[in-house]
Amino acid sequence: MKKVVIIIFILLLSSIKIYSDNARYVTHKAKKGDGITTILVKYNLQVNKFNVDFFKENNKTNLNSDFGLYIGKEYFLPIRIFKYDGKSIRSSLEINDLEFAKKIQSYNMNLFRKKIKNSDYKIDQEIWLPLSFDNEKSNENSEKITNKIDNKKIKENIPRNIVEPLFGEKYKNVTVSSNSLSNCIFYLISGHGGPDPGAIGYKDGNELHEDEYAYDVTLRFARKLMENGAEVYIIVQDENDGIRDEKYLNNSSNEYHINKKPIPLIQKDRLSERIIIINDLYNQNKSKNKKQYCVEIHVDSRYTGQKVDIFFYYQNANSEGKKLANALMTTIKEKYDKAQPGRGYQGSVSQRGLYTLRKALPTTVFIEIGNIQNPRDQIRIIESNNRQAIANWLCDGFIYNSMGK
Ligand SMILES: [Zn+2]
Repeated sequence: MKKVVIIIFILLLSSIKIYSDNARYVTHKAKKGDGITTILVKYNLQVNKFNVDFFKENNKTNLNSDFGLYIGKEYFLPIRIFKYDGKSIRSSLEINDLEFAKKIQSYNMNLFRKKIKNSDYKIDQEIWLPLSFDNEKSNENSEKITNKIDNKKIKENIPRNIVEPLFGEKYKNVTVSSNSLSNCIFYLISGHGGPDPGAIGYKDGNELHEDEYAYDVTLRFARKLMENGAEVYIIVQDENDGIRDEKYLNNSSNEYHINKKPIPLIQKDRLSERIIIINDLYNQNKSKNKKQYCVEIHVDSRYTGQKVDIFFYYQNANSEGKKLANALMTTIKEKYDKAQPGRGYQGSVSQRGLYTLRKALPTTVFIEIGNIQNPRDQIRIIESNNRQAIANWLCDGFIYNSMGK
């Protein structure tokens, strides 16, 4: 079935270096029913552009106008033949990469088992090397190197401890115990702050300020992300507050931005300053080659009677943001279904042209965790366990999203 032919004319047809010698290629004599695809599959080659183009290009004179084959004709395949030197695949091919050599070995063994190749390469002294392997090789090597570095990093760094004073005395020690999000950078914005308390709700004689609750959830979320190896920038900060377990959070107006500047009173200035900070950091961090996300958390106000489940906005025309927002929503839904069966979850995902979403360079989601005026939503916000659960679930959503599900 297979016959080896010296190909000389190939060098005229292609500029790729590998063809520029009198290399030998595997050939196949066409039988009834053979086509380009079936032959590639038979020889365990991928039906991709590279292999199909090679086939068409190098068998031009033996193909009809529909690229059909003629029975009995001999066709060149994108598999080069090397002489086995009696020692190893690596020395025969003058390569160092053991993994690559193993891949070539198993390719040859498999074709021998399939009876496509007549004998073992150690016997017929022929090593078959698909050209596409060589194409893939450089990419694979660089991936392998990256994996090695990552594994090393994991070994060195887990578990490790970080101290983040912003979390307050009780929570400032963070143990990084997983690397699930070690390829991610987060910019977290808790809505409002400084001179702007955001929405205000009332419960049992207490004023609930949106900025304080959003800040507490944001800190808990930040801590959770850090436990999973993420690099986190907390854009709005208040060193006096930390993570608080009380129901009624003390209201303050001394929050500032991560650059230690006060938060501007005018909304337009406030939002644009945050974006400038985040986009600068984004550009500085680009070389780290990590995924960069911006998350903005709010507890806004609707009319009192309206209960609002956690919902998400993503950036216009950002498919990654949309996918992310959906992953977060799905996670929250699953968590609710488990924690409170029958409760139902009415969250939603939509796009919106909010300033942060329009201007931020990282993939950005805007999260509303409830209606600060609604009595049932208030329970979600004032119980610290609930605030922690929201933070945990959002973090799980990111992990779920980063796993590509
Ligand atoms: Zn808000």
